[in-house]
Amino acid sequence: MTRAYNFCAGPAALPEEVLTQARDEMLDWQGKGLSVMEMSHRGDAFVSIAQQAEQDLRDLMGIPDDYAVLFLQGGASSQFAGVPLNLAGPNDPVDYVNTGVWSRKAIAEAGRMADVKEVASSEDAGYTHVPDPAEWRTRPDARYLHITPNETIGGLAYSRFPEAGDVPVVADWSSAILSEPVDVSRFGMIYAGAQKNIGPAGLTIVIVRRDLIGNAREGTPAMLDYAIHDKADSMYNTPPTYAWYLAGLVFQWLKRQGGLQAMADINRRKANRLYGFIDESDFYANPVQPEYRSLMNVPFTLADDSLNSAFLEGAEARGLLNLKGHRSVGGMRASIYNAMPEAGIEALIDYMAEFEKDKG
Ligand code: PMP
Repeated sequence: MTRAYNFCAGPAALPEEVLTQARDEMLDWQGKGLSVMEMSHRGDAFVSIAQQAEQDLRDLMGIPDDYAVLFLQGGASSQFAGVPLNLAGPNDPVDYVNTGVWSRKAIAEAGRMADVKEVASSEDAGYTHVPDPAEWRTRPDARYLHITPNETIGGLAYSRFPEAGDVPVVADWSSAILSEPVDVSRFGMIYAGAQKNIGPAGLTIVIVRRDLIGNAREGTPAMLDYAIHDKADSMYNTPPTYAWYLAGLVFQWLKRQGGLQAMADINRRKANRLYGFIDESDFYANPVQPEYRSLMNVPFTLADDSLNSAFLEGAEARGLLNLKGHRSVGGMRASIYNAMPEAGIEALIDYMAEFEKDKG
C-alpha cells in the first residue's frame, strides 16, 4: 500500500502514525475488548481518554487554568452563532475584521444576532493582505473583536495580533491551530473545527476564558451555551467520542514531534520552500503579499487557466491529491498542515517543475 500526499484543505491528511495506532487499537482498545467507538462516553475508559486529550492540548498550547477547553460538535460554523449568543446581547456592539470568505461568513451570522461593525477589511484589495491593526476602527465598548488568523481559501494569515485593551479578541483558528505557538492569554476565545490540524471532522474545539461565559443571552440553545458544556466537561450530551480520541492521538503525536515550536519551524520551512519555488517561476503565481502568506494554505494559479485540468490529472496520477482551489476562487491550493511531511512538498515541487517544463 502506498499513501498519497493529500493536499486537501479539510478534512485533511492525518499523521500516518496516528492512523496506524488507531488501526491497531480499533477492535480492542488497551485490552478492554471493544473499540473506542463503542464505549460509553461516561465510562472510566473513555473519560480517561477524554481527560488525557484535554491535558495534552492544554500542555501543547499552554492554555491557562482560567480557560475552559470544550470538545463540541457543529463545526466552526456553529460557533459563528455561538460567539454572539454567549458573549453579547441582541443589541450589543461586536467588531469584526474582514479578511476573506470565512470572516464574511462569521460576520453574516453575527449580523443576525448583534450590532456588527466591520472595523477593517481587505476585500477591495482582493484579500491580499491583512489590514494594519493600527488602522482598525474598533469600538471601545464592543463586547468582543473577532478575527480569522488564517483564511483557508485566500491563503492569508495574520503576521501580528491586535492589542485590543479590555475588549476580548475572539479568533477562528480553524485552519492554523497547533501550527505554531500562540499566547492564549491574549485571546478571550479561540475556536476551530478539527478537520485540518486536530483530527477528523465532527469535533470542534472551543477555548474560552471562563469569566466571559455564563451570561449567554435568553433563548440560547443549550447546545450552544458554553457554560453548560463547561459545567458538564463537554459531556452535556453524547460528545463525538471517536473524533475526540483521534484528536488525543494527534496531540500525543505533536508532543513526540517536539511541540508547537518544532512544528512551527517545520511548517515555516515547508511553506518557504513552496512559496520560494512559486516566486521564482514565471508560470506559477501567488497573489498574497509575502508578509501575510499562510503557512498552511498555499493557493496558486497557472499562467494559463486552460491547463488546470491537465495539471490536476497529472498530479493525481502521481499521488498528489486534492490540489484544486476552492470553487469560489479557482486555480490551485496546496494545504500543507502539520501532517504533510516535507517529502510531500518536494514531490509537489518536482511535479510542478516538470509540468512547467512540459507545458510552460
Ligand atoms: N472557518 C475557517 C477558517 C474554515 O476554514 C472553515 C472550514 N473550512 C470554517 C470556519 C467552517 O468550519 P466547519 O466546516 O467546521 O463549520
